[in-house]
Amino acid sequence: MAVTLETAHAWLADYASVIHDNADLLTDLDRQIGDADHGSNMDRGMKAVAALEAADFDDAAAYLKKAGMTLVSTVGGASGPLYGTFLLRFAGAVGDGGKDALGAALRAGLDGVLQRGKAEVGDKTMVDALTPAVEAFEAAGSLDEALAAAASAAASGRDAATPLVARKGRASYLGERSKDHQDPGATSVTLLLESAARTLGG
Ligand code: ADP
Ligand code: MG
Ligand code: MG
Repeated sequence: MAVTLETAHAWLADYASVIHDNADLLTDLDRQIGDADHGSNMDRGMKAVAALEAADFDDAAAYLKKAGMTLVSTVGGASGPLYGTFLLRFAGAVGDGGKDALGAALRAGLDGVLQRGKAEVGDKTMVDALTPAVEAFEAAGSLDEALAAAASAAASGRDAATPLVARKGRASYLGERSKDHQDPGATSVTLLLESAARTLGG
């Protein structure tokens, strides 16, 4: 089993703690090409998610749906609706929580982010980390291999976006000056996939 109520809760608890530990880093990255709030936005949202108790939910889908709604209502900015949509769509496709269902959930989450944010790979956003992560997950054989491949592909996608000019979000207002800065959202998405690899394995 990959995603159960227990492992889904462990995933987001791990992510909340990692976001808290990296909040200053994420805010510093956002200070370079945005408005210096990505760390505080995500930390506020994930604190609220971490306050959700697994025992109050019937299954992983119900818990993840509530987590997504919590992010929409607490994070604000561009990233709140995008992360919220990711988790809501993920929840809707997580099914039995096995490797294929987790792949479908990740794909559904990515599709939701693409629909809502209208970014493409190469626009220097969280999509640049999330897209290769989903592709690597789908291409891998076992669940554990897929989780490791997704985390590693997210990090590569995050780094590949650093030299690019931003074409979506606040960073795009900087034009050429957004070059050679690491994208905050691609960074926090990579942390999410790294948390998944630690907690959702078989
Ligand atoms: P805001 O820019 O509103 O202050 P945050 O700082 O919390 O919001 O989040 C910024 C991140 O959101 C960016 O680094 C980028 O990865 C992501 N982002 C912004 N706009 C989009 C979009 N249209 N599609 C996908 N991701 C986006
Ligand atoms: Mg910001
Ligand atoms: Mg902001």
